[in-house]
Amino acid sequence: MSRPTTATIHLDALRHNLARMRARAPGARVMAVVKADGYGHGLERVARALEGADGFGVAALADAERLRAAGLSQRIVLLSGFDEPADLPALRRLGVETVVHHDAQLAMLEADAAQGGAPVRCWVKVDTGMHRLGFAADRVGEVHRRLRALPNVAGEIGLMTHFSSSDEFDGPRTPAQIAAFEAAVAGLPGPRSLCNSAGVLGWPQAHGDWIRPGGALYGVSVVEGVSAPDFDLAPAMTLSTRLIAVNRVARGERVGYAASWTCPEDMPVGVAALGYGDGYPRQAPPGTPMLVRGVRVPLIGRVSMDLITLDLRGIPDAAVGDPVVAWGRGLPVEEVAAHAGTIGYELVCSITRRVRFVED
Ligand SMILES: *Cc1c(COP(=O)(O)O)cnc(C)c1O
Repeated sequence: MSRPTTATIHLDALRHNLARMRARAPGARVMAVVKADGYGHGLERVARALEGADGFGVAALADAERLRAAGLSQRIVLLSGFDEPADLPALRRLGVETVVHHDAQLAMLEADAAQGGAPVRCWVKVDTGMHRLGFAADRVGEVHRRLRALPNVAGEIGLMTHFSSSDEFDGPRTPAQIAAFEAAVAGLPGPRSLCNSAGVLGWPQAHGDWIRPGGALYGVSVVEGVSAPDFDLAPAMTLSTRLIAVNRVARGERVGYAASWTCPEDMPVGVAALGYGDGYPRQAPPGTPMLVRGVRVPLIGRVSMDLITLDLRGIPDAAVGDPVVAWGRGLPVEEVAAHAGTIGYELVCSITRRVRFVED
């Protein structure tokens, strides 16, 4: 039998989550963020499932290339912008819009204009307090004017910003960022885009013309401590495997590397074909939940490269071949992530190439 480790991608969940985002922001268009290989779910399959989106947000030109090669004709925005002059012909060839967040990009566009470059669509990124990418608010008018004046900047210029803390629904930072953005872009023409997933859920006054959900489309929790199903979002990935051994281990015996876990009594120990070589987090401590035949059981011992061990006292008749779910339907990825000291986003992005991907 081939290795049973499988990531099942639920296309219906992707479509459901897109519909939820649309319903939350009925006046806005949706730029579905598919960076990092569709948050680890597979770029082309995600984009095809989300073909009802008005556009896609990517972090790399290579992703745009793959989307066009897959026949997707929606608008595509390169969220961190282009890196070098040679990227401009690629943007034009692929019909990709670029974010402009830095003077270096502005200079490249001006040099390209001087050489008669053909038009590219642009979005100006405004730094409203996250201090990662974007022009300071007091420079937006000037940047907009300079872009407007360029013959190689096509059509409307978009205006966007990104929130640092949109999942803090009671916090002061997002209202401050919204106010800073509105002041920076006041009077300038062009579509507005502010909201990532948590922005869509928590800050309806900021929906603007385009929302940019990522995590919510994949059914990953976008608000700490709140599970995705609480927002009626469905997990788009189930990571599963099977038991490949069930052993009786005597009281006082130790399980796994470093002999770190001691059996408190004679007990059945399950071994599942899943490890950090598949992208399961090695930091997941004993007690991290898994589902065996749909029943919750705790992980015990250390996560190794190919294998994990499970306390099967809750399912005494568990047998080799029984299905094991590491996260997804029935077990939110954020719950596993909380045990492992990370977030669901990182886990779904970390599945490795040896895992079989299937669609349902
Ligand atoms: C990743 C990203 C998003 C999507 O964020 P989520 O929290 O996953 O919804 C939106 N906008 C930009 C600029 C991003 O980089």
